[in-house]
Amino acid sequence: MTVAPHIFVLSALGIETALRIKDGMPDVTIHGLEGRVVGADVPFGNFGETIRQQYQAGHPIIALCSAGITIRSLASVLGNKGIEPPVLAVADDGSAVVPLLGGTTGVNVLARQIAQILEVSPAITTSGELRFGTCLLNPPPDFQLKNPEDAKKFIADLLSGKTVRIEGNAPWLSESRLPLDETGELLIRITSEEVTPQNGELVFQPKASGDIAFAEPKPGRLAVVGLGPGDAKFMVPAVKHELQRAQDVLGYETYVRMAGPFRSDQTVHMTDNREEMQRARHAFELAATGRSVVMISSGDPGVFAMAAAVVEALHESEDPAWHAVELEILPGVSAALAAASRSGAPLGHDFCILSLSDNLKPWDIIEKRIALAAEADFAMAFYNPISKPRPWQLPRAIEILRHHRSPDTPIVLGRDIGRPGERLQVITLVELVPELVDMRTVIIVGSSLTRSFERLDGGRWVYTPRWYGKKPVT
Ligand code: SAH
Repeated sequence: MTVAPHIFVLSALGIETALRIKDGMPDVTIHGLEGRVVGADVPFGNFGETIRQQYQAGHPIIALCSAGITIRSLASVLGNKGIEPPVLAVADDGSAVVPLLGGTTGVNVLARQIAQILEVSPAITTSGELRFGTCLLNPPPDFQLKNPEDAKKFIADLLSGKTVRIEGNAPWLSESRLPLDETGELLIRITSEEVTPQNGELVFQPKASGDIAFAEPKPGRLAVVGLGPGDAKFMVPAVKHELQRAQDVLGYETYVRMAGPFRSDQTVHMTDNREEMQRARHAFELAATGRSVVMISSGDPGVFAMAAAVVEALHESEDPAWHAVELEILPGVSAALAAASRSGAPLGHDFCILSLSDNLKPWDIIEKRIALAAEADFAMAFYNPISKPRPWQLPRAIEILRHHRSPDTPIVLGRDIGRPGERLQVITLVELVPELVDMRTVIIVGSSLTRSFERLDGGRWVYTPRWYGKKPVT
């Protein structure tokens, strides 16, 4: 189905659900009952008339009301099975997704998509699909079933216990639970030749490239997402949707666990592989086969994480299939911002973020950057501050800071922010010793204007004023 669905909303509760659906399917149009629904794209006065009109125009329909109302409203125009658009009823609170019509035009596919967005199970009622894990009537858009009129009997035969063989290449059936048997009585044939389907046979034909816009092998999707610091409430909604729609999930085990749990139909590729370029290439290889792939980072994917490796891998590749992949980077709350927000606003003025890891850059340049940033009076956030193989680097960095900043400069230490056992400490530069810091800590170093004061709970607020030099008169 190439036409974008139309959503019909009758209640205030319904519009919330409709907007959630639209978040995940931006192409939909929301029709709202005039006087009752605020926030729709188009108002309507008469539900029955409007829904019939859209149905007859061939638009997939999502009605946020009872199945009964929907069916009764469409009853007079239910025509030709085979060309009807999909129709679904969705409970206005988003708790149920019920495919009603359009088994041959993708209603179950649409139901699954919406159910995923709403995080519920779709009420799929077609027995063949449930049993065999695929809907024979819904091949991917680049194939078509030549003899849909035979499908009903074919599926009934399967349900009654007959076995089937496949002739030709049908990638969409490879994960189905069809009762395959080389000597099967039934036959699924995939061919581009003009053949007349025989008894007990379904014939699928690749569509000619002019038939539909997306007849080419569908390019896959690769989303590089940031989970934020940890707590799910700090994850942006677009990332939540992306995790729902993913077929393959890649990332470090810790982060994959943090993002899960995943469904049984999603493949998780956990890795402790430190070779990030290799992981990035693996993601493209999967996506280039048409799959929807998600690469997980903590915090923001663009901050000392996978996004740069992914874009670099693409830059280095001349494979057109990789360049055809729909690549999207979705942001997250980075550790420095999460820790800053917990302590007030230490990054309220100009600041810079530095990684103290010299794995991928020479230590010289790190020292130089710390010294120059300190001289320029930036507030700073240090990532990857210390680790077993890098014990002396942080003491050296502290030494450089002490050279430029006064001993009472506020320092924020954020450890496991947004995760169980979170710890936030506000100290001063003179108190900063490596023993207080580990790899799960982000260090924020104040500028010369950063200040701190006591809060009632015993902690301290820290902020860097928005002005510099002299406080403006307000
Ligand atoms: N992409 C991540 C950073 C990865 S580098 C982000 O944007 O946050 C790893 C470093 O980030 C750690 O060594 C630590 O310094 C910091 N870090 C990541 N998550 C953190 C958290 N929840 N609390 C404190 N520091 C964190």
